Amino acid sequence: MFQEKIINDQILEKMSLENVFKIFNDNVFSMLNEEEREYCHKLQEFCLDLNPRIDKSKDVYGLLPELGKHGYIQRINQWRDFKPVGMKKEILLGAHISILDPQLELARLASGILCGNPTFHYYQYGGGYDTALKIQDELLSGQKVGCIGITEPERGSDAVNLTTICTKTDDGAIFNGEKVYTTNGPSADYFCCYGVYDETNPRDTMVQAIIAREFGVKTERLKITSVPRVHIAHTILDNVFVPKDYILADDGLGYKRLFEGLVPERLSIMGSGIGICWAGLIYGIIYTNLRKQFGKPVIRYQGVGYGLADLLAKSNAATALALQAATVYDEKILFTEEPSKEAEKWVAAISSQGKYYVARLTHDVCYEVQQHMGGISITDNTPVDELVDVSKIEEVIGGSRNIQLLLIQGQIQRYVRLL
Ligand SMILES: Cc1cc2nc3c(=O)[nH]c(=O)nc-3n(C[C@H](O)[C@H](O)[C@H](O)COP(=O)(O)OP(=O)(O)OC[C@H]3O[C@@H](n4cnc5c(N)ncnc54)[C@H](O)[C@@H]3O)c2cc1C
Repeated sequence: MFQEKIINDQILEKMSLENVFKIFNDNVFSMLNEEEREYCHKLQEFCLDLNPRIDKSKDVYGLLPELGKHGYIQRINQWRDFKPVGMKKEILLGAHISILDPQLELARLASGILCGNPTFHYYQYGGGYDTALKIQDELLSGQKVGCIGITEPERGSDAVNLTTICTKTDDGAIFNGEKVYTTNGPSADYFCCYGVYDETNPRDTMVQAIIAREFGVKTERLKITSVPRVHIAHTILDNVFVPKDYILADDGLGYKRLFEGLVPERLSIMGSGIGICWAGLIYGIIYTNLRKQFGKPVIRYQGVGYGLADLLAKSNAATALALQAATVYDEKILFTEEPSKEAEKWVAAISSQGKYYVARLTHDVCYEVQQHMGGISITDNTPVDELVDVSKIEEVIGGSRNIQLLLIQGQIQRYVRLL
């Protein structure tokens, strides 16, 4: 299990996933209704069952079908008869899978949300219904792996001005370009990719397509040491022909979808993030309650106890924000015939603010917990160091810190119009 075990047996026994969930529930359940609590209990049973079968020396992809069997690849949209659904359920799903295995959570989110979510919008607006449904079923069962290709070598934060060029044909489009940091790319069967017909007019000509690997997509794996069990690619689209049925949004609609998609993506990243915060913090709380130095548990020393208390307050605040944002999304956007424009604006704004706050908090919590726990947390004897590693990328994925701040700055600048 460990390369070399040095952790005290009595403490190790208490550092169980079951105990992590007990402390998580004590903090979070008062914010949930009965249905949501029941949903969490089932998720926790699933995690406790899967946990002993996770081999941390192997990549995460063999675990996706396990999630798929229980409808846990995503929970925003209704798929098959898995219930309940909605953004709040998705946030809770992301939090639990992060607590279970934060690298599995990264791959799940890329496949189920970033690639899977667009398949729901496709048939909602018309198009190749059967193709979208087939891809959706393969992705959400975990049988196939999906990814998203927005970022290019020369276009990171500037995701509008893409250089991937599409050329229209009678029966589809030909894609030429390169994508980078494609999470799941090296193992992916489907690539949700964006390109433009006219580089000088991306807003009116952007295309969104789900491209099957067999159409000719090539990938090279990047070395990213912080998430070694997740495959991340440099993706090459060299004259890749995409049949019409696989084009989800054409002639500029791709631009609208790209930005619509960022809202559920950022809210979902908040779910993953709060899971990382809770996991890191709870392992720290358990360990420091049991580890004794100078004759008493180290948590009783103010330097340790106050630090963890500060992180608990922030983790609860982040969780309340994520759940509240998801509630508004569900009630006023997802489950209503006429989504509220006011709510759409608020959720778009709060998804940037929340992603900014939670992503940073994952790093702060995990880093600080290591300082409070001491040496053991740097070894493989506790899950904390893996959480620290995953926390390193949370601020970059889904739009970097500055891009969230740029969006928030845009919001506050507009307040002058209210005066
Ligand atoms: C592990 C990992 C997984 C990822 N997964 C995916 C994926 O699956 N699919 C995908 O498409 N992308 C993915 N990304 C890409 C991610 O979204 C980008 O890294 C991110 O959008 C930033 O782009 P960039 O790295 O090119 O930085 P750049 O855009 O080059 O920015 C460099 C720096 O300048 C700052 N900056 C840029 N513009 C401004 C501005 N206007 N104002 C202020 N500061 C600015 C940025 O904040 C950053 O600090 C992933 C990245 C990583 C690291």
